[in-house]
Amino acid sequence: MTENCIIELKNISKTFDGDTVAVDGVNLKIRQGEFVTLLGPSGCGKTTILRMLGGFEVPTTGEILLNGKNIAELPPNERPINTVFQKYALFPNMNVYENIAFGLKLKKLPKPEVEKKVRRVLELVDLEGFEQRKITTLSGGQQQRIAIARAIVNEPQILLLDEPLGALDYKMRREMQLELLTMHKELGMTFIFVTHDQEEALTMSDRIVVLSQGKIQQVGRPEDIYHIPRNAFVADFIGETNIFHGRMTGSRQVNFLGKDFSCSEAYPAGTEVEVVIRPEAFDVCAPCTGMISGEVISCVFKGTYYEISVLDEDGKNEIMIYDKKALKPGEKTDLSVQPKNMHVMLYDTHKNHFAMERDGVLMDAYFSPWDARLSDDAEEGSLRGNIVSIIYKGDHYSYTVHTEEGDDLFVNDEYLWNTGDYVSIVIPASKIEYNRMEGEGAL
Ligand code: ATP
Repeated sequence: MTENCIIELKNISKTFDGDTVAVDGVNLKIRQGEFVTLLGPSGCGKTTILRMLGGFEVPTTGEILLNGKNIAELPPNERPINTVFQKYALFPNMNVYENIAFGLKLKKLPKPEVEKKVRRVLELVDLEGFEQRKITTLSGGQQQRIAIARAIVNEPQILLLDEPLGALDYKMRREMQLELLTMHKELGMTFIFVTHDQEEALTMSDRIVVLSQGKIQQVGRPEDIYHIPRNAFVADFIGETNIFHGRMTGSRQVNFLGKDFSCSEAYPAGTEVEVVIRPEAFDVCAPCTGMISGEVISCVFKGTYYEISVLDEDGKNEIMIYDKKALKPGEKTDLSVQPKNMHVMLYDTHKNHFAMERDGVLMDAYFSPWDARLSDDAEEGSLRGNIVSIIYKGDHYSYTVHTEEGDDLFVNDEYLWNTGDYVSIVIPASKIEYNRMEGEGAL
């Protein structure tokens, strides 16, 4: 990676107004010529990272190395980097040619050279002959192509694309995705693309960077992100998925949905895990012939497949499957799944730490997400905050609550709450473990 790494983010953080942490300790290396996508839900920090790369924001801490040199404080016009925004930001009073040539004229390039360059980029974006057209007479897709042409005509080393297809309708968006890919190949330029659309990220990228709350959750090839997610957030955010809580019963044996299954991953017996199974990974089989028995709750036609919801025999877990054949609600069915089609991840509870005063001493407190519940009575629980994420896991919901103290804590609850709800976390006193705090913050 180091030899052809064009840009490196080294421990980059960005805090706004003293307390909004938009980007939190991001480390990332991007290769020359790569197509990298920053993907994550609204507010996860994608645009802030892009704006720091473009020079529109200065990081609070950390370095941005371009070919090994720190450019974190260099103004945008001194960086070999250009940005395409979601809103095309074209000059409406100029025609297509003048819009694209604007930057080149500022650089005082000779007229024949400007003409040659403008013609070449118009060819690249498939709009030859549009030189004299007024911007206001172009469709949304055409305007976005002109915005891209204007950004690449200066031949930047890196092109930043901030949700550039967000304003286009579905068909035009699909078309432009393919065109962008072709352009990327022809130009050999490094593309850093921002989207919250996981399908778009999977289609276009060499590598995807999945972000949540300012932190990188996983960096990897689209196939790896989809099939081998590192945690429940990534599994849930990328595509439809089933996530079941389970426990290892042997090195490659896992128990979930009340049954033992062989799996590919080896963890010690007793380890708490989560099992990810994509809806298309299940095989539907006749009753009493599969590993999991259940009853069909719903079946919805989706064009090339049916989306079928099955309730397991204990009536606790809802399983989502995709199949070519329809099943009737109320019908009994069995399901099976091969070890290679399930992904077993360690269950991550290490984050549930918070500071709490006990007998006048500030302690590091911990609770298991299973031992707490949520309440809408602010006085009932000992911690208060807003729900920032919800992941459905078959028989319960996994919530992340951002507390007033600034901690992100996990709580498993069978009841459905909404993102943004203000809740208190109720933890029985006997279920809180305390450790004396060390260093900073200790009383
Ligand atoms: P979206 O997909 O909605 O554009 P995003 O992932 O690009 O979201 P950012 O725009 O980077 O997210 O914002 C990350 C966080 O930083 C948000 O909480 C946002 O409100 C905050 N933020 C961004 N810019 C500023 C600013 N100039 N001042 C204060 N807070 C900001």
